[in-house]
Amino acid sequence: MKTMTCKELGGKCDQKLSAESWDEMVKAMTKHVVDRHPDVANEMEEMHKQDPHKWSKETKPKWDAAPEL
Ligand SMILES: [Zn+2]
Repeated sequence: MKTMTCKELGGKCDQKLSAESWDEMVKAMTKHVVDRHPDVANEMEEMHKQDPHKWSKETKPKWDAAPEL
């Protein structure tokens, strides 16, 4: 289990999100931005259209570096 904050994942608040795997974290973050930050969700969708791997490339290393709890 690892915990990251919304901000670390490219969002804008300090809400902590926990997940067992990177895939789960992507799902948790997607749900969080859709619920809480529709503007961020739109930005991420635009980013995804331009380069589907950009967000993962920037964010996955932070997940890898986060301590296992
Ligand atoms: Zn947030």
